[in-house]
Amino acid sequence: MRLTVIGTGYLGAVHAACMADIGHEVLGVDIDSAKIAALGEGRVPFFEPGLQDVLGRTVASGRLRFTTSLDEAADFGDVHFVCVSTPQRPDSPAADLGAVDAVIDGLAPRLRRRCLIVGKSTVPAGTTARLTARVQELAPEGTDVEVAWNPEFLREGFAVQDTLRPDRLVAGIQSRRADETLREVYAPMLRAGVPYISTDPATAELVKVAANSFLATKISFINAMAEVCDATGGDVTTLAEALGHDTRIGRRFLSAGLGFGGGCLPKDIRAFTARADELGVGSAVSFLREIDEINARQRRRTVDIARDMAGGGFDGRRIAVLGATFKPDSDDIRDSPALAVAAAIHREGADVRLHDPEGMDNARAVLPLLDYVPDVAKACEGADLVLHLTEWTEYRRIDPAALAAVTRARKILDARNALDAALWRSAGWTLRALGRPTPP
Ligand code: NAD
Repeated sequence: MRLTVIGTGYLGAVHAACMADIGHEVLGVDIDSAKIAALGEGRVPFFEPGLQDVLGRTVASGRLRFTTSLDEAADFGDVHFVCVSTPQRPDSPAADLGAVDAVIDGLAPRLRRRCLIVGKSTVPAGTTARLTARVQELAPEGTDVEVAWNPEFLREGFAVQDTLRPDRLVAGIQSRRADETLREVYAPMLRAGVPYISTDPATAELVKVAANSFLATKISFINAMAEVCDATGGDVTTLAEALGHDTRIGRRFLSAGLGFGGGCLPKDIRAFTARADELGVGSAVSFLREIDEINARQRRRTVDIARDMAGGGFDGRRIAVLGATFKPDSDDIRDSPALAVAAAIHREGADVRLHDPEGMDNARAVLPLLDYVPDVAKACEGADLVLHLTEWTEYRRIDPAALAAVTRARKILDARNALDAALWRSAGWTLRALGRPTPP
């Protein structure tokens, strides 16, 4: 089939490359000409494990090309996947659908051939219905075009495997033909047994925001338990392990720490509350505001504990920060808890020396005043305190005894509960963590 993928960021670039990899002819489209130039040469302009291989081979095969031209896209596609950003609006918790609307307004009048427009971006319930009316208004008379929604669940860091072998596919469709078209697009996945849920567009749109709301709730739940553990002397990691053995609860997403961030969870739960308010059911999901507040509190708690460990203030203190990205195995720093903490302690006068394996260029672009150090030991040189804020594997492999030789003090705050506390303490470090007791 001939597919276009409009919006070639963290989601779209992966989708385009993987669709070409399973045999489709794919045209990637973006308004960012630098990104399109890089992708067209087979170069991934961001960090995503495994993507370089898939992109390189599909561009080389000729099945994957890139353009900035919507005319070319309209001429080419049987199916147009819309993968543009839907960030939070600057002035409200609601989603900014400006990019989605711009794609529809640009594409629809150019359509001449029968096609299906399939949204993958995360959008408020009701968007497909609204866009369907818009497409009908704008597409040339007699053009056979429909809109469907097929939300995306990939995780950055695992995006390629999540696209090629998703846990499930959800198709919000308005006709049998749209259903058949999507089944054809995803035929190799369906043959491999991936569950395919065909439903109405509103349900499909809701599945995505409901899934993210549930995940955010699980994280904030265990972080709330961490706060209670701190007040009682309990250990949240043992609590999570014991809870996780209950198969009704499960262990995943019960890691207490600095909380969630990134370009999805925070803005998606806010957009959900805003949309629910519009629909008159705001009170049904008002608990999500508390989930968001618990999440924000972990950043403040981390700064408070760090300040305490630094001796009551950051002025004149050298603080090594390990981690800038919102999660490991990504260079994404959107709404990153690690970067929020680094910025807060810098504002309070700390001399911040920050290391991240992949996120330093992106972090420098938004926080140019921090000191970026491309080597862990150098970042920790002379440090009064080390903050472990993103759980990269590389940080778990640090030898605490060797690091102690370069820091001024042996003090570390593990805000991700990911380090081997006993190992660090046996090397003479004072290690504190969120929701775990510190031995005297
Ligand atoms: P992104 O910012 O990395 O990519 C968006 C791309 O769209 C950018 O390259 C941008 O230049 C392009 N764009 C913006 N306006 C455009 C236009 N008018 N025409 C063509 N291109 C345009 O964002 P992302 O992380 O890829 O997220 C995209 C959508 O996917 C969002 O709705 C997000 O919530 C959803 N999503 C993201 C992930 C993820 O892990 N990143 C997972 C699931 C769903």
